Amino acid sequence: MHPRSSTVWMACALMLGLASTAQAAATREKASQASEAAQGVQMVPTGKGYGVPAQGYQLQGNNAPDANGIDYHGGPVMKAKGGQKIYILWYGDWDNQSPTGKGIIRDMIKNITGTPYYNINTTYYQDNVPTKNVKNIVKLKGEAYDVAKSMGSALSDTQIRTLISNAITSGKFPADKNGIYFLLTTKDVNATSGFCTAYCGWHTHTSVLSTDIKYSFVGDAARCISACAAQNTSPNDNPGVDGMASVIMHEMEEAATDPDLNAWWQTSTGMENADKCAWTFGTTLKAPNGSDYNVQWGPRKFLIQRNWVNAAPSGRCDMKKS
Ligand SMILES: [Zn+2]
Repeated sequence: MHPRSSTVWMACALMLGLASTAQAAATREKASQASEAAQGVQMVPTGKGYGVPAQGYQLQGNNAPDANGIDYHGGPVMKAKGGQKIYILWYGDWDNQSPTGKGIIRDMIKNITGTPYYNINTTYYQDNVPTKNVKNIVKLKGEAYDVAKSMGSALSDTQIRTLISNAITSGKFPADKNGIYFLLTTKDVNATSGFCTAYCGWHTHTSVLSTDIKYSFVGDAARCISACAAQNTSPNDNPGVDGMASVIMHEMEEAATDPDLNAWWQTSTGMENADKCAWTFGTTLKAPNGSDYNVQWGPRKFLIQRNWVNAAPSGRCDMKKS
């Protein structure tokens, strides 16, 4: 998921090192990609909130745009009857860095199942069979802790993968093909491939113990409130973690609907479902402290970005399926 202070195009430009001035580069990049799209160049998702031109081997299934704003490319979705199992590796000293943080995220994940919002993901299915779809079920199955930051405070993508892999091979977590494993880092931790500048979080997959493991990085938005949180005052009086909440939902719904980066995205842009609605919230209400929120899940209010409804003839960003 890209930061709110830059557009998806700017993120691409920065990643490619094209920025002389960000806006000029963004304009060039946008023009270049529009031209590629017009010439039929197909894009694939990176999991970081922007697409890149496809290599031939990355294209499978039907890559013809179906005109509703999101396209199916032949890969699996997370369609288990029991839903998505969430595992959290808390990295850093959460108790001291953000004392209310863990409770906010736990309360959110425990209250997603059955919400009108998560029901949007049931519109995504595989093999062109609508009953082989994502279920409106999310369970918090496991938590583990790396308080001492065993790999330091500047994590590369490879180190993030290793942290997840080690948590599984050491037995802290099971190897669960229906799992989504989140590495959530405290605000004193950076992710060096672009946290706060190119992205606020990302998702991808890897193989551990012969199991396809879906995992995601999301850092405490307190590190860069203006880039990775929607507001400075927040419903749970923790702007960084309340910002993370929306990013976690973004990555969770992309992991569910495009777990191996070969199922659902918009062919012309490489954007997955949540990318299409990033930093949009629909109708909001005011919490007692003056902050905005748009859902009440269990005991808490949250401001969560909208998600793309895979509806015919045209999709849309919304907070509910219908
Ligand atoms: Zn995304």
